Amino acid sequence: MGLQTVIRALFPPQCLLCEAWVAEAGGLCPECWRETEFLTGVLCDSCAAPLPGLEADIAVQCDTCLSTPPPWRHARAVMRYSGRGRHLVLALKHSDRTDIAPGAASMMHRAAHDIITTESVFVPVPLHWTRLAKRRYNQAALLAQALAKQTGAQAAVGALHRSKRTRSLGGLNADARARELDATIVVAQPQAVLGRHVVIVDDVLTSGATLRACARTILQAGAAHVDIVVLARAAPQA
Ligand SMILES: [Zn+2]
Ligand SMILES: [Zn+2]
Repeated sequence: MGLQTVIRALFPPQCLLCEAWVAEAGGLCPECWRETEFLTGVLCDSCAAPLPGLEADIAVQCDTCLSTPPPWRHARAVMRYSGRGRHLVLALKHSDRTDIAPGAASMMHRAAHDIITTESVFVPVPLHWTRLAKRRYNQAALLAQALAKQTGAQAAVGALHRSKRTRSLGGLNADARARELDATIVVAQPQAVLGRHVVIVDDVLTSGATLRACARTILQAGAAHVDIVVLARAAPQA
């Protein structure tokens, strides 16, 4: 009997979200699986927003992405940022549940299998400077590393750096806010992104403002193209 077998017999793997035992480490139990709102069906190719209609063979985009295309090409997400999807993100982010990262990354790999190649480089959204002091880890970096391990592609966890914001965003219009945000995100390792297919990794896509700033900065640094993969996606504003 191998060591892994002994360990598994002594400590059966648990569901990522609850105490239930599961057959394979890094998965969800049947109940949590049922209760999680996975993003399936027709999704916007550019922001992973659910769209009405039947499965289509061609890439479709939501009205928002058609009128204001994001700086990246494709976005992929696993689940809605609500209910158990939200619990999973918050546990990874705030509860020292670093053990969630490999299982979450394998779900992200499945959701983004059509855009990831072994030539891709995973770049995590850098942690905000105010949070670095409080937390031991950047959850996006854990996901990027786990994705690299599972796909055979590279991760460049230090490629982006978030510097201290010097000005308050209060009183600024949307364009000025975006410029301020862009200015706080810098490419710290230009050689890691130059000419590459960069996949920006984050735990959750909410407004997308930070992801847009990261994508713009990486493209300016000479990346060939940029895609996005996140674990959870907040419902788009109607
Ligand atoms: Zn469970
Ligand atoms: Zn969209």
